[in-house]
Order: sequence, then C-alpha cells, then structure tokens
Amino acid sequence: MHRINGKKIRAFAKLLNAKTVYPETAVYLEAIQLFNAAIHKKPAAIIYPRDEAEVFKVLCFCRDQSIELAVNGGCHSVDGYALSDGGLVLDLSLLTQMQIDPIQKTAILGAGVSPGALEKACAPFKLMAVHGEFPSVGFIGQTLNGGYSLLSRCYGMGCDNLISVKVVTPTEGLLTVDKDHHPDLFWALCGGGGNFGVVTEIQIRLHPQRYLCTGFLAYPLNEAKSIIPKWREYMLNQAPNELSISAVFATLPTGDKGLLLATMFCGEETLGKKILHDLRQFGTTLMDNLMPRSMIETLELYVPITPAGLMHHWRSDFFIAPTDEMLNIILQAFETVPSHRTLVFFESHGGAIGHIAPEATAYPLRQYPFNFMISGTWEVSQSSADCIRWTDELYQKVKPYLSGRAYLNYIGAEGAERIKRSYGQNYYRLQKIKQHYDPRNILHLNQNIAP
Ligand SMILES: Cc1cc2nc3c(=O)[nH]c(=O)nc-3n(C[C@H](O)[C@H](O)[C@H](O)COP(=O)(O)OP(=O)(O)OC[C@H]3O[C@@H](n4cnc5c(N)ncnc54)[C@H](O)[C@@H]3O)c2cc1C
Repeated sequence: MHRINGKKIRAFAKLLNAKTVYPETAVYLEAIQLFNAAIHKKPAAIIYPRDEAEVFKVLCFCRDQSIELAVNGGCHSVDGYALSDGGLVLDLSLLTQMQIDPIQKTAILGAGVSPGALEKACAPFKLMAVHGEFPSVGFIGQTLNGGYSLLSRCYGMGCDNLISVKVVTPTEGLLTVDKDHHPDLFWALCGGGGNFGVVTEIQIRLHPQRYLCTGFLAYPLNEAKSIIPKWREYMLNQAPNELSISAVFATLPTGDKGLLLATMFCGEETLGKKILHDLRQFGTTLMDNLMPRSMIETLELYVPITPAGLMHHWRSDFFIAPTDEMLNIILQAFETVPSHRTLVFFESHGGAIGHIAPEATAYPLRQYPFNFMISGTWEVSQSSADCIRWTDELYQKVKPYLSGRAYLNYIGAEGAERIKRSYGQNYYRLQKIKQHYDPRNILHLNQNIAP
C-alpha cells in the first residue's frame, strides 16, 4: 500500500464533495483523537460519508490507488484501527439515523450511533439493547466482533440480536443481508469483525427493561480469597441468566485496593431482590451502590471509571474458572500495580451466550464461562513502559491457566495465529467469505482474516 498520496486524495475528495478534514485544518487534531491516548497516527485525510454511495466510491478509490483505508466507527479499538498512518479514514460519525419500533421491539441504527444515543431513544418505550456498558463505544464496531454486555447471559451477544445489516462490500457494493439474503455474509458479520465491508446500518432486537438493578459491591482485597470461590461457584451453579457479575480487581476511590463485583440483574423483581440480598452476604462491603437504575443511568456509572484521555494496553483470554493458584498470582501482582487506573477482570459469560452452537455464527467462543482481562490503563503523565511491563508480566504468569483463545474486542494486534486460534474451525469459512467480498484485503485494519 502507498502511504501519503496527497494530490490524488484531494482531487478525489473534491469530486466526492463530502466533508473532508486535512492535516492543515484546525479540526484535524480532534478528528484523529483516539480513545487510547497511547496511539498516534496521522492520516492524509478523513472523509465523512453521508450515504452508501459515497462509502463505495471511497472503497473503490482506495482499491484502485492502493491507498490504505481505515474505518472509524467510534475510535475505541485498543490498537487504534480507526486510523491509518498516511492513508485515508472513512469516519462514519455522520450516519446517525435511528428508528425505534416499540411494537416489534426492534431498532434501526446507523453506523454513527453509540450505545448511549440509542438508549436515550429507547428509554421512552422502556426498551433497551444489548451492548457493552461504555456509552461512547461504536455500537456496530463492538457488535461485529461479538458484542459482550452484562445483559449477554440473558439475551446473548450483541451479534445474536442482529436482524439485518446494510453493508458496502468492496466487490459487490451495497448489500442488505439477513438469515435469508446472502446468509453466508450475514453469518460472517455476526462475529467476523469489519473484514467484509463497511456496515452503514443495522436492525437489531430490543428487550423490555424489566427490574434492572445495577452497580458495584466493593470488598477489601484481603477478602478476595474467600469471595472469589463463592462467586465462582455461584456463577457456575446457581446464578440465573438474568444475573451477571464480573469480579474486578481495582483501586477504590479511597485509594485502597479492593475487589469489585460489577453486577447487573435484569428480570423479575422478587427474584432480583432475593439474589441481591444473598450477594450482599459475600463479604464485608466497603461500598454498595447496587440499586435499580435505567440503562442510561447504568452507562453513566461506568464513564468515570475509564474516562477518555487515558493510555491503554490490554491482554485477554477465555478460561474455564479461576483457580486458587491463578488468584494468588493476581493478588501478589496487584500489590505492585503501577497505576490506580489498571483493572483486572474475571468477566462472567455463559448463560444465553452458550445456548447457540459455536458454528451457528462466526462468533465461536460460547462454551467458556469466564473471560480474563487485564485492562492496563494509565494517565498520560505516568510511565508507559512500567504499565506495559506490569500488564505483560502478569499476563505471562496467568497464561498457563487460560485457553489461548481471545475475545477479539479486548486485544490489540497479537498476530495472525492468535486470530486464527480464537476463531477455531470458523476461521476457514470466514476466510472463504473474505476471499469473495474483499479479495484484495482493502479492509485490513482490524482483527484481520487474510483472504
Ligand atoms: C472503554 C471501553 C469499553 C469497552 N467495553 C466493551 C464491552 O463492554 N463489550 C465489548 O464487546 N467490547 C467493549 N470494548 C471494546 C470495543 O467493543 C472494541 O474496541 C470495538 O472495536 C470498538 O468499536 P469502535 O467502532 O468504537 O472502534 P474503532 O476503533 O472505530 O473501529 C475498530 C474496527 O471496527 C471495525 N468497524 C467499526 N465500525 C465499523 C463499521 N460500521 N463497518 C465495518 N467495520 C467497522 C473496523 O474494522 C475498525 O477498524 C470496550 C472498549 C473500550 C475502549
């Protein structure tokens, strides 16, 4: 791929007549701001398409001129896939169309819509969607790689809630795909990431907001050895699908290190109240803000934990269950965690996620009850080297207890083998579909499936 080809890009953009931002303009720095402040790339231009025709023209131009193309759906990927260094960026933020159907309980949303914006539109109808707890992540970017939510044990992954997808592919242009139309491509879009085309719009299933109770219970870190086994047994053997609890090693607002149970219950009120009462007996609670909340209030709860402007280096893998040895390693490491922003997660999967066969959608990682994640996160003023080293060292120590298969939304660029192993048998079908829709790998700034 060529890098900067300024003249040709400017001539093309002038003809296209879509909003375009160039390096010399005042808004350029804002346009290239990534969620991960550790990554800096300088594209030659950022184009903001208004419709599918413009998206297709940009795809064809990049193909014909061998210019690298990045797709920015929300700029949250930890390795900064939303930008190309020297190439073109297709920024989808102007595609903000939204339509809620309260009778069918469905929503149509454009590629510029975030979970926060969608929930605001759903709230008057007491409906909600399946997405992560962070309001500004690109809804579509998250869903294409699977889309994990604290609601996933109840309603499946985000991709399990897709009804149809409008996608502009490099070889066939705009296609509207669902289970009956281009079923292979629809299958691939349910977990195969941004490999097959630029998704401009999706239709998804919504769910009624029942008794939704969300928040955190915080315990002293020295109680983790008694709480984690209780939590593990509870999640494996007793918890209904309506309940999700992630155990998070964190630095508490007081500055003390602690264990958080990040909890969401969505179901029948009497059952919810009983479960939450039982949960409160797990240990000595230092903080308890678990209470009925709307989905919008829930999203707001997560923003201050990881505000924008921080640096990130993440490692992650699925596993069967935390063992005592694994817990000891984490507790020992956490004593010297270099940044109060860094979190270590045991995320609860299972429930409805596992009710779908691994080969039924491209997203195959359905049999693991837990996901392990180190969110190595630090302030711009701190030493990146210390935080990266700490994250990698802990990951290496815990690795023998992990599956070697990753949730691709939670890792950076770890190489082709890692992607292949994470998709398992589904990789070969994905590769065939990639060969059909993007044989020249124009869409390669992603967890790439090489054609
Ligand atoms: C603070 C934070 C919290 C998070 N929480 C969760 C969570 O709870 N659950 C979860 O599953 N993930 C979570 N993630 C991970 C997140 O889902 C991924 O980083 C995802 O890639 C972000 O999508 P984006 O569009 O914002 O990113 P971008 O960096 O803009 O895009 C990343 C890649 O996604 C693809 N892409 C995006 N939009 C499109 C599109 N419309 N068409 C085609 N390809 C597209 C492209 O390949 C692009 O290169 C979180 C990330 C952060 C930073």
